[in-house]
Amino acid sequence: MTLSLNCKDAGDPVCTHTMYGDTEEELLENAKKHGIEVHGYTEESFKEEMAKNLEDFRKLIKTA
Ligand SMILES: [Zn+2]
Repeated sequence: MTLSLNCKDAGDPVCTHTMYGDTEEELLENAKKHGIEVHGYTEESFKEEMAKNLEDFRKLIKTA
């Protein structure tokens, strides 16, 4: 089973990058890497964002 999360679904107006992972943990790890590389997050600010919005992000995760 592959989990995926699209950046646009997560609220970004322009980025259509899709993150993948075999587990939710892996998916969030990949999302963090992408957030840091592309969206200017730091390790710390991404963690804060996740702490605030994890429930919402979970709803956006698709399984295939
Ligand atoms: Zn993005």
